[in-house]
Amino acid sequence: MADDADHAAHQADLTEVGLMEAVAGIRDQLAGTGRAVCGDCGAPIPARRRDAYPAAVRCIGCQQHLERRDL
Ligand SMILES: [Zn+2]
Repeated sequence: MADDADHAAHQADLTEVGLMEAVAGIRDQLAGTGRAVCGDCGAPIPARRRDAYPAAVRCIGCQQHLERRDL
């Protein structure tokens, strides 16, 4: 029971974050620019990374951390 509730809460968090990121990504795409700072830690996203991946919303460190966590 408690496990189900925890799981549901976790899913809700992920969905909310995903929505916020999707909205931010769409907004940035409409503006024609990638994000200048990481959405997670606020560190500047290097221009090279934004050139390589214009939709990037995180610095490489946070992105790698997220991808490892999702595995
Ligand atoms: Zn970051």
